[in-house]
Amino acid sequence: MTNAITVSIRNEVLRAILEGAKRVYPRESILLLRGKRKKGSITISDLVVPPFAARGLGFSSVPLHMLPMDFSIVGTVHSHPSGNLNPSHADLNHAFGSVIMIVGYPYLDERNAAVYNHDGERLALNVTEP
Ligand SMILES: [Zn+2]
Repeated sequence: MTNAITVSIRNEVLRAILEGAKRVYPRESILLLRGKRKKGSITISDLVVPPFAARGLGFSSVPLHMLPMDFSIVGTVHSHPSGNLNPSHADLNHAFGSVIMIVGYPYLDERNAAVYNHDGERLALNVTEP
């Protein structure tokens, strides 16, 4: 791990992401991540449903100009129905915010979640209670 940034997320927020991804499977789900940036860490606090219906179209088809200019948005999360947690080139090229989070089928727990920076480097994911 070359990057020192740690991403923290509450377990209940992670569960909401995984449940949402399960619900729309085999389509992709896409959500915005709201949170706070500090030196060396990003804390995800809430999920925001994007203001457009892009479900099933794939992450790379999200119209970025339609995303809110909201500086509390720290990144995005989308699902990979294939189960592959690696970001695609399109995922990296269309990154919005600091964090690219990917959840993969079967969407059970944090083993099915990964976070990356813009360069595609995997970041540490710290799941906190509750
Ligand atoms: Zn993707």
